[in-house]
Amino acid sequence: MTPDDYSRLYDEAREGSPFSNGTEGDGWLSANCSTCIHDKPARNGDDANGCPLILVALMGRTPIQWMEGPLSPEGYISIANQYRCIEYRHEDDGPSDPQPIPDPPGQLTLAPRSDYEGVRMLSPLPEPVPVDEQVRASAVLTHVVLAARVAQLEAAVKAARR
Ligand code: SF4
Repeated sequence: MTPDDYSRLYDEAREGSPFSNGTEGDGWLSANCSTCIHDKPARNGDDANGCPLILVALMGRTPIQWMEGPLSPEGYISIANQYRCIEYRHEDDGPSDPQPIPDPPGQLTLAPRSDYEGVRMLSPLPEPVPVDEQVRASAVLTHVVLAARVAQLEAAVKAARR
């Protein structure tokens, strides 16, 4: 990811600003981007080569690279954990982009890798059905089955009395 990717990152971003106000934005950026290698040039005064995802956010869209962060045990979102940026790399953590595993020497490459490289998005699991609803649905089903069985038995008794 480089600043030249800005247009693509903007187009694939989600509608809507990621933050409700400046305090949220400042808090998250300072907790995450202030040590990230992608924004290091901007920290050194070279704003033109800063992180393009921050620019996307400043333009009012939410980068898809920003996954929803974890909730606290009480169900709250903290400003620093509101999102987890999948592009985050600590500035002391080596090169800014993942380095591809080199092809084994002396081996042929069966298929080009480029078609299979990119951002992989995981969708959240569906919300679990509360236990109360499961029990209620099970009870309704049991009632329907029993009612049908009782009707069958009543019909059988009537038929036997004739
Ligand atoms: S890659 Fe993510 S964490 Fe790093 S500077 Fe950009 S938005 Fe911030």
